[in-house]
Amino acid sequence: MGKGTTQDRRKAQAPRHDRLRAWYDRYGRDLPWRVRGAERPDPYRVWLSEIMLQQTTVPTVGPYFRAFLQRWPTVADLATAPVEAVLDAWAGLGYYARARNMHRCAQVICCDFAGIFPDDEARLRELPGIGPYTAAAIAAIAFGRRANVVDGNVERVVARLFAVETPLPVAKAQVRELAAGLLPAGPAADFRYGDFAQAMMDLGATVCLPRGPRCDVCPLAEGCAGRTAGIAETLPRQAAKAPRPTRRGVAFWIEGPDGAILLRRRPRRGLLGGMLELPSTDWRETDWLLAEARAAAPVRAEWRPLPGVVRHTFTHFHLELAVWAGTAASGGAAGAGLWVRRDELDDLALPTLMRKAVAHALVTDN
Ligand code: SF4
Repeated sequence: MGKGTTQDRRKAQAPRHDRLRAWYDRYGRDLPWRVRGAERPDPYRVWLSEIMLQQTTVPTVGPYFRAFLQRWPTVADLATAPVEAVLDAWAGLGYYARARNMHRCAQVICCDFAGIFPDDEARLRELPGIGPYTAAAIAAIAFGRRANVVDGNVERVVARLFAVETPLPVAKAQVRELAAGLLPAGPAADFRYGDFAQAMMDLGATVCLPRGPRCDVCPLAEGCAGRTAGIAETLPRQAAKAPRPTRRGVAFWIEGPDGAILLRRRPRRGLLGGMLELPSTDWRETDWLLAEARAAAPVRAEWRPLPGVVRHTFTHFHLELAVWAGTAASGGAAGAGLWVRRDELDDLALPTLMRKAVAHALVTDN
């Protein structure tokens, strides 16, 4: 792979590219951040979508993408917004460090780059929140650069095309190299790099599915080694993952004298950084003793542990959150947070875990 002249490679890849391009023109997904034909993509939209799509599915991202664009139509609008407003608009998408980095990145673009996104991978990678994959995707899609864009979907397609049986993540470098060998061959390539990248992603998302690849309608079926060997569905192989530990914590459902509920913002750094929460203890692998949890509560109260626990899974651990209800003797705890009327809770920008905790309290605290 990668040997021979550009012309040789172009010739060797041409039939594959022709079939893939024809398929993409006909079946490529219409996504809110995409443009077709001669239209130039807006780098701000491409960047916004790629940050949102890290760890999050296309159907979930769609409404958030539209809402962000409506509220902050340009990178300058986003850069001048308060970070809390950006975090609140992000609530429910998860991985909140993305929103904080996105906001910082918008400020860097405006301050250091006069509001114009750099157009090559190396400089994109220096920006907050932009790793190698995202830099490659922006460079290819927004600027037509020859970048090797390998997300999970593309990894699966390539592992199958070349019947790579070494498990991931060990096989990552090999798969990347094989993917690079598939790229249109040079500046004169008539398959634009951004379209090629998006065609490969779409193929993985809609045809080369994790379970039940639809080889009968695949434009790359001819020459697919995984399909020929009858092992496509078993690829890519994955090394066994270490089991996730379970952490535990207690969230406090605190009612004030007028029935309002106490919330607070989490510290900016760390998990769910800057997001609103029901005040809670740390989350740790050992159980919380009653006296310890009481001491960690932000107010003194007669606590009623509510039945059941709230379960949530983060990337590196499972969480079991007990919820304790109590009534604050006065509104004096307001300095520790924010009192919110019950009928306003639905409209608040809460992360999914806290939304579950609120729902749990509302159902079980009778
Ligand atoms: Fe995937 Fe089947 Fe296409 Fe091979 S032929 S790339 S396994 S869908």
